Amino acid sequence: MFGLIIVLWIIFCFVVASTWEKKGLSFGKGFVISLFFSPLVGLLMGIFEAMPAREKNQKETEEKNEKSSEKTELPPDKQRIGLKFNCPKCGKPIIVKFLKVGEIAKCHNCGAEVSVPTDAEKVNLEEFRE
Ligand SMILES: [Zn+2]
Repeated sequence: MFGLIIVLWIIFCFVVASTWEKKGLSFGKGFVISLFFSPLVGLLMGIFEAMPAREKNQKETEEKNEKSSEKTELPPDKQRIGLKFNCPKCGKPIIVKFLKVGEIAKCHNCGAEVSVPTDAEKVNLEEFRE
């Protein structure tokens, strides 16, 4: 009879430890606690310990989301950076707000259609507001 209780005890310890593992906790810790205190205590401790761990994980993912959203570029109307280069035809400076390097810009002075050169200077559009 006593031997059966010991066997059942150890089986319950394994069951509790596996629930710990499922919750992202240590299998070994859950097993040892169940073995020394009782599988019931181990089970309750597993539930108790899993709660703050889950909250922590949620916070971490939230922080990661915030960081990744910071990295995303501002919409074009909120961007204050433009590209400035000189028109190859008339030499007047051209400032483009929404175009990227290689895209076609039109010179306001002579009407020439020129592609934005790779050496176009990045400028703060606030300084060039009309
Ligand atoms: Zn021009």
